[in-house]
Amino acid sequence: MTNFTESTLSPTEEEQSSYPLSESADGDDERDDNNYDWSSEFLRKRCVSTGVSSILDPPPFADSDNEDDKGISFLKNTQNAVDQAETLVRRVWHKSWRVVYHSHLPKWLQDNNFLVGGHRPPLESFRACFQSVFRVHTETGNIWTHLFGCIAFIGITISFLARPSIEIQWQEKAIFSTFFMGAILCMLFSTLFHTVYCHSESVGRLFNKLDYCGIALLTIGSFVPWLYYSFYCTTAPKISYITLILVLGTACIVVSMWDKFAQPKFRPVRAGVFIGLGLSGVIPAMHYVLVEGIERAINVAAMGWLVLMAALYIGGALIYAFRIPERLWPGKFDIWFQSHQIFHVFVVAAAFVHYHGISKIARHRLSFGECLAADESGNLIL
Ligand SMILES: [Zn+2]
Repeated sequence: MTNFTESTLSPTEEEQSSYPLSESADGDDERDDNNYDWSSEFLRKRCVSTGVSSILDPPPFADSDNEDDKGISFLKNTQNAVDQAETLVRRVWHKSWRVVYHSHLPKWLQDNNFLVGGHRPPLESFRACFQSVFRVHTETGNIWTHLFGCIAFIGITISFLARPSIEIQWQEKAIFSTFFMGAILCMLFSTLFHTVYCHSESVGRLFNKLDYCGIALLTIGSFVPWLYYSFYCTTAPKISYITLILVLGTACIVVSMWDKFAQPKFRPVRAGVFIGLGLSGVIPAMHYVLVEGIERAINVAAMGWLVLMAALYIGGALIYAFRIPERLWPGKFDIWFQSHQIFHVFVVAAAFVHYHGISKIARHRLSFGECLAADESGNLIL
């Protein structure tokens, strides 16, 4: 029996370049690349060349003279053998895949053309996708940066919520939990998206939407504790601004559900929508500075930390939108230090900075005790 080793099942570079993949989509080939069974054709081609075509090719039609029960049962058995052999070969192929060039990817997997090589081919099974977490390719850094952030925030959340209520009351735990939930879900959805998006076009699209939802959830979750403690004793602005961010964040999630939003040509629009959502925080920040003054804004409302957080988010989003540094040196950052990884690291750093900032505001605010009274403009009188 043929020995299915990696060398017999993985495409060689020559085969990859001769293989009619996505590049043919704009050429004479009429085939729809989006619905094309990428590995099937490769497997069939490979098996023909390795001498197992007889079990993989459908059996020839029997002569009408021989179409008796025996013949039908023989055909059924042969078909079963074909199915089993194809399943076996497919399983081995998924274990032994090799990275491919961007130009060899099907159209639905072609995102960043400045990452020249090191891409995963379509893997078609969740098991293979999750196993790829432990291999080196263009998504390895993206997966691990947010997996690390996700695990770190799960740890922080557990230790925060486990603190005795005499130290941290349930109201504080509830408010901080909106931020923790936003951070954990954002990084979890992102990790899952980067892990499984090479499974198939439909799976990739679904998880891409979840990824965008996660960014909106993190933004909403970041705003809620900040607004809650910054406008602790002034109910009207507190409720108005929290409502505003909930409405804008929900609008962002709805836009993210739109199929075309994930296309590469909408990259600047995506970056713009999320930068806009984040920048909506300028309105309550200006409000606070005008009412309380810049000194209290910095010392009490930890505005310096919030500005640093905003700079990290915006800086990360711009790097993502302009695809720096791989745009300048295509092919040099295929595996490490590409724009998307830098963006991920900035998001994790911004989330840590924000946690520090809102902890400072909360500690400061709670040290005053309950709201005692308010003047005619709604400001707290201590
Ligand atoms: Zn990402």
